[in-house]
Amino acid sequence: MSALENAEVATKQNGAAAEQQPRERIAVENPATGENVGYVDDMDAAQVAAIVDRALAAQPGWEALGFEGRAAKLRELRRWLVENRRRVIDILVKEGGKTPEDAMLGDLWYVCDSLGFWGKTAHKYLADERVRTHSPMLLGKKVIVRHRPVGVVGVIGPWNYPLTNTFGDAIPALMAGNSVVLKPSEVTPLTSLLVAEGAEAVGMPNGALSVATGAGDTGAALIDHVDMIHFTGSTRTGRKVMARAAERLTPVSLELGGKDPMIVLDDADLERAANMAVQWAMANSGQICMAVERVYVEEGVYDRFVSSVVDKVSRLRQGEPGEPGTVDVGAMTFPPQIDIVDRHVRDAVDKGAQVLVGGKKAEGPGRFYEPTVLTGVDHTMDVMRDETFGPVLPIMKVRDAEEAVRLANDTRYGLNSSVFTRDLAKGERIARRLGAGNACVNDALMNYMAQEAPFGGTNESGLGVRHGPQGIRKYCSSQTIMVTRFGPKREPGMFPNKRVTAKVFERLMVLLWGRRRRG
Ligand code: NAD
Repeated sequence: MSALENAEVATKQNGAAAEQQPRERIAVENPATGENVGYVDDMDAAQVAAIVDRALAAQPGWEALGFEGRAAKLRELRRWLVENRRRVIDILVKEGGKTPEDAMLGDLWYVCDSLGFWGKTAHKYLADERVRTHSPMLLGKKVIVRHRPVGVVGVIGPWNYPLTNTFGDAIPALMAGNSVVLKPSEVTPLTSLLVAEGAEAVGMPNGALSVATGAGDTGAALIDHVDMIHFTGSTRTGRKVMARAAERLTPVSLELGGKDPMIVLDDADLERAANMAVQWAMANSGQICMAVERVYVEEGVYDRFVSSVVDKVSRLRQGEPGEPGTVDVGAMTFPPQIDIVDRHVRDAVDKGAQVLVGGKKAEGPGRFYEPTVLTGVDHTMDVMRDETFGPVLPIMKVRDAEEAVRLANDTRYGLNSSVFTRDLAKGERIARRLGAGNACVNDALMNYMAQEAPFGGTNESGLGVRHGPQGIRKYCSSQTIMVTRFGPKREPGMFPNKRVTAKVFERLMVLLWGRRRRG
């Protein structure tokens, strides 16, 4: 089945909303070839409302399946995705221009792993908690905290990881018992439609997982109807999402942009550090929120590090992704992004940076930017301050670790970060001083696979986290229940107010909290 047919088949699964006349169709393009690979509806507010209504109707039945029932359905969906892996990877490659390796590991592997992870852990993270309260006033009373689904969760996603950062964020929401409406990026909507096809194929209740296709207005309309929004995308749009959600006091979780630093100290394993820098600056053409976007290298190893990186980057194969093993760096997915990348490189060069490899758009019908290494960079340049989101690695020489930490923290972002040193204690000390929400010692990015641990950004990189207990509780509202089994007919402090009772409480307060502690 072609991607176009797939888009049309899957769109039908959106039921009532899809039966209405679509406003417009959005063309989906293969960025590596410029070819059209399908069309999706640009849904308006009424269509979005209809999809959310269906999701709302489906939610009680989905929740009633219980953790085991939902986990079983999601395991079936995982099997379906693996059985249909060729289609999934093909669509990811076609609509994203990424390599099949990135499609398999960065998208499909992650969500398959995640389906199992949340299937196994959701019931533990969301189990009722018996709270032992400290208050003497509550002696003998039972206090329980429970986490219940909010209802319908909207997940708005970006184009760089159409499966991981869209459906991936739906998995814990679904396991918590919510229904979910995905609003994939208009640039890469076909993957989400394929997942919806899978959800139907494995018999998930109609409406438990649906897709609202469209551009920014569709996302904005979704915010107006759902009970919670998880958004992944740019900081600029994240602000708009939060402002819109504030109208109805809808809770939001925001995973936004980054400008992740890597620090390489004199005693680092340089070969590993150089491999990590090249891999995580160039993978998916640098279109990763936690890509290595700037490197600070101690002067003692700077020359060796730079020459090793240049050698590795020069050998990268770029082109239209085909069979696995043929291309390292694919296309730039989003048309305006290649201009941002070029602008950053031009700005750096104008201010004195040297281009050691790459430095320009590549020829051809598709959208490619050559893997690029810059030196002679500093913090007056956009490439060191703003998110580039392209295959560009700027490397800066620093005097010592202190200067590296200061520069690494000189940012308005705070997503991921890394430090390379053989002195693990020193590495950990430096990691603790980095302002980012995540820091690796002798590693980069792979911390994302530790789904037990929270992953989220500080400052302009976001609000809230994915993964870990908070990564599923954010899709719930908590309810505290207090049960009093044996209570007196009248509790102390009840009406009528009496002078003597007030005196007793006053004495008690002084006794408990009014005395100076000795020593
Ligand atoms: P974007 O902000 O342009 O768009 C993201 C999504 O928001 C799209 O689906 C878009 O249609 C929708 N949208 C646009 N305007 C909207 C509005 N007013 N209301 C609601 N929705 C709206 O981002 P992008 O260009 O698709 O993605 C790239 C960005 O995503 C980068 O900044 C990258 O760092 C970030 N990102 C962050 C993470 C993370 O985990 N922190 C992961 C992946 C990508």
